[in-house]
Amino acid sequence: MKTEICDALVVGAGLSGLVCAEKLAREGLKVIILDENPLPGGQFLRRLKASLTPAELKAKPGPVRTGHLFLEKVEQGKIRVLPLSEVVGIFDRNQVLVHEKDRTFCISPQLILLATGAREKFLPFVGWDLPGVISTGALQCFMKSSGLMPNKELLFHGAGPLLWAGAGEALKHGAKVQAILHTHSLSRLLPKPGQLRAQGPKLLEGVGYMAAFCSHRVRHRFKTVVIEARGKGLLEEVITARLDSAGRVLMGTESRYQTQCLATGHGFAPNVELAQQAGCKLGFEPLLGGFIVQTTGGLQSSVENIFAAGEVTGIGGALKSLLEGELAALGMLKKLGRPFSDHDFTSLMAKRKAHLAFAEWLNRLTAYPDAWLYNLPDDSIICRCEDITAGDLKNAVDQGYDTPLALKRFLRLGMGPCQGRTCLPIAYDFLAGYRNRPLAQDELLSTRPPLKPVPLGHLLEEE
Ligand SMILES: Cc1cc2nc3c(=O)[nH]c(=O)nc-3n(C[C@H](O)[C@H](O)[C@H](O)COP(=O)(O)OP(=O)(O)OC[C@H]3O[C@@H](n4cnc5c(N)ncnc54)[C@H](O)[C@@H]3O)c2cc1C
Repeated sequence: MKTEICDALVVGAGLSGLVCAEKLAREGLKVIILDENPLPGGQFLRRLKASLTPAELKAKPGPVRTGHLFLEKVEQGKIRVLPLSEVVGIFDRNQVLVHEKDRTFCISPQLILLATGAREKFLPFVGWDLPGVISTGALQCFMKSSGLMPNKELLFHGAGPLLWAGAGEALKHGAKVQAILHTHSLSRLLPKPGQLRAQGPKLLEGVGYMAAFCSHRVRHRFKTVVIEARGKGLLEEVITARLDSAGRVLMGTESRYQTQCLATGHGFAPNVELAQQAGCKLGFEPLLGGFIVQTTGGLQSSVENIFAAGEVTGIGGALKSLLEGELAALGMLKKLGRPFSDHDFTSLMAKRKAHLAFAEWLNRLTAYPDAWLYNLPDDSIICRCEDITAGDLKNAVDQGYDTPLALKRFLRLGMGPCQGRTCLPIAYDFLAGYRNRPLAQDELLSTRPPLKPVPLGHLLEEE
């Protein structure tokens, strides 16, 4: 198989990957950055078109402008950028298998940065798989990449800043926001001292959304969840209810919303599968978003030549990802014996602490209500690919299948086409709560290459 050599391979062209690639290339390293998406930029910059005019850019918030600056430098610099290329396996620490369009090839770098980001988590309810129920992130991608809206009126439900960002974008696109249903109470938003210290630009963005909600008279409901989405083949009606202090539904508090589009999301889970497959040590840290890649100073993982930055080391937002891209670059330069600034390193490590404090606030805000998952009606779907319901999970655990591996073998949990991307973060939380025992570090299900489906023909060597 054809093999390319480079000094550093950056997997993921989101904020952290872009910053790291640019810093390394500036020091004269031969860098390749790749991403499975058609354009670099990751979740945060997800672009409508290849470039923005200076006027369009000026109107964007600070972190977006910083991100675009790095994007331009990467695209105009000496870095090899590979779009539509996904890493499907890492072997022997530095043999990286890449699937690109209709072929696979290998990259053999000295060092690897895993900047694979995160994906959305959902609060399941009866009917969450009905067409018309979409994830807030998917709605946002749709709006950003097409400039269109799926419906003129939308209802929002969930927790965390993406809920506000999604509803705010929808208003900008001329849609009517019927209401925003917040799972938790308003008091959950209150930070502990210092938790929002490093988040100036994001706070400003938040204030902008609040102002837009006020001027459009958007209704907010707190401690309220969707208990059912109904419709004949398409969403027609959403039933909501209030929660008590233990997170249980309060009978008699139900309300109905007539709607054809419900956007829902409940925080993020780090994309750690590639790191796990490469042998990097993971840790289960609920206040950082679940399973994360464990790193030491300079963001080196437990595998000597592999570094990790951004959401994979803990869900902490765009500013943490920007900072960690820089920190990982310094860590990698140090590893290669290249000159680097000790002063910058120490100062970035100190700033990172403030971002980790913010991460705690963020992940507490998006945690599931305590009793929600294991009080779900038995017919609520948990694994959409394999049609596994909450009742199936409860029965299995009651029969003694009370580990992720046992559930996988007994129910095929996580074995469908999405390979557990959607259901596993939910199932892990369900299991920990229902069996009343936190998940142990070694209970994460193993992953094997190829991480994403690859046609067999693309793995065959060309003559
Ligand atoms: C759906 C969604 C919407 C979001 N919207 C907002 C928002 O509006 N505002 C905000 O402040 N924050 C938002 N966030 C959070 C924000 O994305 C992060 O804070 C920041 O972008 C993270 O940067 P990152 O570099 O860690 O990861 P990302 O920006 O997520 O970049 C990771 C990249 O890695 C690529 N990748 C992953 N695995 C592979 C692989 N195996 N092979 C090749 N490429 C791979 C992905 O395609 C992705 O482009 C959102 C997150 C998500 C998941």
